[in-house]
Amino acid sequence: MNWISDWALPKIQTLFGAKKEVPDNLWHKCPACEQMIFHRDLERALHVCPHCGHHMRIGAMQRLKYTLDEGFQRIELPRMPQDPLRFRDQRRYLDRLKEAQSRLQMDDAVLVAHGAILGQRAVVAAFEFAFMGGSMGAGVGEAMVTAAKLAVLQDAPLVVFTASGGARMQEGAISLMQMPRTVIATRMVKEAGLPYIVVMCDPTTGGVTASFAMLGDIHLAEPGALIGFAGARVIEQTVREKLPEGFQRAEYLLQHGILDMVVKRSEMRATLARLIGLLREPERAPESESVVPLVALPAPEDGGDAARPVQPAG
Ligand SMILES: [Zn+2]
Repeated sequence: MNWISDWALPKIQTLFGAKKEVPDNLWHKCPACEQMIFHRDLERALHVCPHCGHHMRIGAMQRLKYTLDEGFQRIELPRMPQDPLRFRDQRRYLDRLKEAQSRLQMDDAVLVAHGAILGQRAVVAAFEFAFMGGSMGAGVGEAMVTAAKLAVLQDAPLVVFTASGGARMQEGAISLMQMPRTVIATRMVKEAGLPYIVVMCDPTTGGVTASFAMLGDIHLAEPGALIGFAGARVIEQTVREKLPEGFQRAEYLLQHGILDMVVKRSEMRATLARLIGLLREPERAPESESVVPLVALPAPEDGGDAARPVQPAG
């Protein structure tokens, strides 16, 4: 301690009342590097830490705003029967649902909108992880079916941003039924010859991974996103082996062929627009500055020799 922090600073603070005038929510702490970030800087950086590049979780509405051009239209989703099993644990499911609905101003964990991504028409569905962990019940299933139908109706590609803990256990078997339902929905898009692109965000797990999330024509993910079916600890205990570093993270899955690309949030819009352009009108793909290779595959850690040309012996 020196005289500045002990004596001068408290004096100045009492003089100007500085402590009271700075609300707590102006600064955010990065969960990865623990650096403080000013809220305006964080918004400008699309909620990516300017110090370490950590992609923070963002809400569904923010996702739509970051992805679609101005003037996109959010569509009303069909209302599903709430709490069909009258489920109760420590609290009634209906109470949990109502609390999430009023806090987040949405009916369930998915928002659907149509509009354009840098001029390319698209239907976008975005998961809200803050809504009961983005879990998939009848409401989410219905949202996915609606998004797929809308894509077919509008002859537009379907882009889904996933962030989910899996099945909504409060809906029991009804929750599990959403897996085949959403799969059928994505098949409708495929049968109509329309691109279906999945962007896996942190975290994409459980029933969502086990159904429509793994059926995209192209699989993208945000850097560092956790993607898997069961949790790492459960797997470790089952196979009784230490799991490799980076297991179930986007970069690891890219190296092992589950993903096509890992794309930074700042490049997501341009990448999606370019991919849609390539898939829909290959001859008229937009020439943007942010050209990204279609498959940005890093050199594999093992078996790298297979990719190199074979040198003739002798
Ligand atoms: Zn950071």
